[in-house]
Amino acid sequence: MNSVDTVKGIGPKTANILIKSGIKTISDLLTYYPYRFEVIAKSNIKELNEEDRIVIDGVIETIPSIFFFNKKMNKMTFRLNTGEYLLNVSIYNRAFLKSKLLIGTKITVIGKYNKKNNQLVATDIRFSLLPKEPKIEPIYHSIAGITSNQFNQYLGNIIAKANELPVYIPDYLITRYKLIDKASSVQEIHFPTTKEKLNKALNYLKYEELFLFMMKMNYLKMNREELLGIEHKIDYSKVDKFISQLPFKLTEDQLKSVKAIYNDMSSNRVMKRLLQGDVGSGKTVVAIIALYMNYLSGMQGALMAPTEVLAQQHYNNITKILKNTDIKVSLLTGKMKISEQKKVKEEIQKGLANIIIGTHSLINNELKYHNLGIVITDEQQRFGVNQRVLLSKKGEYPDILYLSATPIPRTFAITIYGDMDISSIHTMPSGRKEIITTLYNNNDIKEVLDGMQRELRKGHQIYVIAPLIEESDKIELENVETLKSKIERALGKISKVEMLHGKMSSEEKEAIMNDFKENKIQILISTTVIEVGIDVPNATMIVIFDSYRFGLSQLHQLRGRVGRGDSQSYCILISDREAERLSVMTQTTDGFKISEEDFRLRGSGDIFGTRQSGEIKFKLADMKRDFTILLRAKEDSQEVLNSDEYKNGKYFLLRDLIEKSTHLE
Ligand code: ADP
Ligand code: MG
Repeated sequence: MNSVDTVKGIGPKTANILIKSGIKTISDLLTYYPYRFEVIAKSNIKELNEEDRIVIDGVIETIPSIFFFNKKMNKMTFRLNTGEYLLNVSIYNRAFLKSKLLIGTKITVIGKYNKKNNQLVATDIRFSLLPKEPKIEPIYHSIAGITSNQFNQYLGNIIAKANELPVYIPDYLITRYKLIDKASSVQEIHFPTTKEKLNKALNYLKYEELFLFMMKMNYLKMNREELLGIEHKIDYSKVDKFISQLPFKLTEDQLKSVKAIYNDMSSNRVMKRLLQGDVGSGKTVVAIIALYMNYLSGMQGALMAPTEVLAQQHYNNITKILKNTDIKVSLLTGKMKISEQKKVKEEIQKGLANIIIGTHSLINNELKYHNLGIVITDEQQRFGVNQRVLLSKKGEYPDILYLSATPIPRTFAITIYGDMDISSIHTMPSGRKEIITTLYNNNDIKEVLDGMQRELRKGHQIYVIAPLIEESDKIELENVETLKSKIERALGKISKVEMLHGKMSSEEKEAIMNDFKENKIQILISTTVIEVGIDVPNATMIVIFDSYRFGLSQLHQLRGRVGRGDSQSYCILISDREAERLSVMTQTTDGFKISEEDFRLRGSGDIFGTRQSGEIKFKLADMKRDFTILLRAKEDSQEVLNSDEYKNGKYFLLRDLIEKSTHLE
């Protein structure tokens, strides 16, 4: 379809803004959907509570008076006669409307009702009375000053073109789900008529979104199955021997994961496997075994960590475990001296380095590998899909393993990670004591401090997550400092207390983390969430203030900072709110169960947040709310992909879209 600059009402300047934001064609504009809807219906003032939203119409009674302040601000006030009431209306920064707001003018006002003062703080004034029937208005995200109203106006000028939008969903599915047609759906979402029709439109468009998403996922998966990769030659008896020499016995799930990875690697298909399990469930060891298998087949392997600290930690672990072998492990991070980096890069290129651990620097353009056979990314949710693709492009279709410490129940995982195979580690290594989790009120702080003291006396260390902070950095700082001096007063005699906060440079943070690791600091107060994956086995307690502000999965992640050694560990949740939700944490330590519960209680945000924010964005659909549609879309897309009609080109528009949009991977 034509470019947006051909749309009536859109001048060159606006067109430019739209194009820059990705709305290039009329078709893009038609599919720029509202993110919510507002019902415009007359409020019944008697039923309103303080600060409620109010929609009311009436006649202007007094000449508006304007008050200017702060150079650019102004506040206008006048009196409105609604027929039943006289309301004082005020509105900010609309002085330019004054000439139109004459006594006797009929208007509609939308805003907040201030009952005590019989006042209405308006956000919107319209020059007409309310329609008889309630009206549904679409609200769009504004882009660089283009308002919701403007979007709706532009759309009004092109809505007839909705007929020309490509229809991707095969007819028989439209019939199966009794969907209305696409053009009407697009028309209805921009110009809603009734709730029922709007819901039907939403059904169509959400299903379309999720169907296309699952088509891509399934297509990627099918394609990968056909993609020939490296057929690693691995002598499994050597792997067995390696495993038997580990300082511990692998858990059943670890062994199962190793077997699955071995099968993937030995086959000529490209492996794309997600290994998920709670923090401390032993994913790293499995990753090391994968690297070892890759080494046995004569190839280089790379492990990419999201931060310097984690890369270093992996490097230390791996060199320790491999110390009795000839395997050369190299570390490459952006923080190393240039000369050192150069040396390591040479080792890598010449094939002297067998295993390379690093950060983003592993995907640097100049870096050439000798023969990359496997790529592992740790905490994979922290890398965008492009970064991962870049790393895998470094070799000739190397096998790929993702590690994730955000467990997702299987039904959800096969949907969202539909393009990957999945291994899950459910059980913790044996001998590990379950972390004891207790919920306290802010009033119980004395008890909490006593508990902390007991742990310190045993020579253990403690993490403290500071209370909820305002947005300003200054308040954040004051806040932790107050907490710090409180804790120092109580426990300073037997411990050194330090804090980590957002204002610190990464060097400062790292120095403090290191001191904590070396037990030079016993209590670490942190405003931001502590680095994922940090391993300090001597830390046996984590105290989380205002825990209600976290999702269960996040709390579970935080709790995972402790319980990494042999001693009993504790998680102290402090909160005056949401005790019932938080009590889930005191009942189970199974990350899969917790994420399921989170899903049930809070929606998709936490669970899918990571993947959704990075790479999966839906315009209308919501993973949680629309999960049943997603499951249907998954089945349907599989069915379509396997159908003769699809293969014979009957759905050529759909096929074209899927093949073009998945081209990168
Ligand atoms: P993850 O990467 O899943 O967070 P790690 O692999 O770092 O977990 O394992 C956490 C700790 O448990 C490490 O110190 C590791 O050596 C140890 N560990 C791993 N597997 C086992 C096991 N099967 N038995 C005992 N300890 C184990
Ligand atoms: Mg790990």
